[in-house]
Amino acid sequence: MIMKFGTKLIHNGHEVDPHTRAVGVPIHQVSTFHQDSLEHFGKYDYARSGNPTREALEETIAQLENGTRGFAFASGMAAISSVLLLFSPGDHLVVCEDVYGGTYRVLTTLFSRLGIEASFVDTTDLAEIRKAIRPNTRGLYLETPSNPLLKVTDLAGAAEIAKAHDILVMVDNTFMTPYLQRPLDLGCDIVLHSGTKFLNGHSDVICGFAVVYDPELAARIQFLQNSFGAILGPQDSWLVLRGLKTLKVRMEESQRGARAVVDWLCRQKNVVDVFYPGLASHPGFAIQQAQATGPGAVLSFTVATIELTRKLLEELTLAAFAVSLGGVESIISYPAKMSHAAMPREEREARGITGTLVRLSVGLEDPEDLVADLDRVLNG
Ligand SMILES: *Cc1c(COP(=O)(O)O)cnc(C)c1O
Repeated sequence: MIMKFGTKLIHNGHEVDPHTRAVGVPIHQVSTFHQDSLEHFGKYDYARSGNPTREALEETIAQLENGTRGFAFASGMAAISSVLLLFSPGDHLVVCEDVYGGTYRVLTTLFSRLGIEASFVDTTDLAEIRKAIRPNTRGLYLETPSNPLLKVTDLAGAAEIAKAHDILVMVDNTFMTPYLQRPLDLGCDIVLHSGTKFLNGHSDVICGFAVVYDPELAARIQFLQNSFGAILGPQDSWLVLRGLKTLKVRMEESQRGARAVVDWLCRQKNVVDVFYPGLASHPGFAIQQAQATGPGAVLSFTVATIELTRKLLEELTLAAFAVSLGGVESIISYPAKMSHAAMPREEREARGITGTLVRLSVGLEDPEDLVADLDRVLNG
């Protein structure tokens, strides 16, 4: 039976435990499994290689992204770093210039040391991707909408260029989730996630995912996951399975709130720029509409002065001033000192991540209350 996304969140083969008929996946809090025969080991042997609770989560995320295999890791960075181990010394990667700060750090300090070089380019311009490709380019790493300026890259267009050069396309889909955007359907090879954000959605787990369609690529990532060992534990896997069930309603409601906040911000004299791919004036608006079913629940904006920036971060009562996003609670963050702290200042400012930029991840509070809170601080 072909099911729509919301149904798949609830009915994905893991809604009833086959052994007990429990309406949920048991937490298999074990590290090893008894073997019955010297000749034939069972499906599970050691929980780094496979744990039934983690496997239920991995199968669920694979279905949601329209992939064949999913892999759950201890964090988004564990997923990203493990997948980057697909590359070898001498390989070159083309990476979107406003990539997540942690990914920038691991590429420029760790993978660079292993002889894997990265060029950071403005991937919103496909010509820039073409220009950056070298004979040894093996990977294209994208984030769309990107963090924190919500720049949009044409995934199908980028994948077409990459295919012609035998380049693997990786997409960090954290901001969209498979509810709004499915990069594998657009020709990309590997979807990456910080499941810490919208997928789990409750600001209580750190986790990450890699999802692929191609079985041969899946086998290579499974080898890396098992060899490197940065796996997600059973307790956390269960929490994410639970969080995922409400992904559709959370995304819909947070997105509705984000639109209300954006509409209000655009009318304020103390607000200089608003970055949100749902605005018709956003340069990536048309591509966003074509490749995703919504603009998401994250926006960023600049305000008139640094004093106002500080006031906003410290005095809002309905948004936590914190690192992270995608929780049931709204979270306001300061990219220059948080997600992009690892990036050198000149580099950061050249990319528009200035001292008056704040990022807001809209949670599930009533949008009217969020706007009232913003109004009190911005105009009070
Ligand atoms: C948070 C985040 C990451 C890193 O994920 P962790 O779970 O914190 O390791 C990677 N990419 C994006 C876009 C993120 O927001």
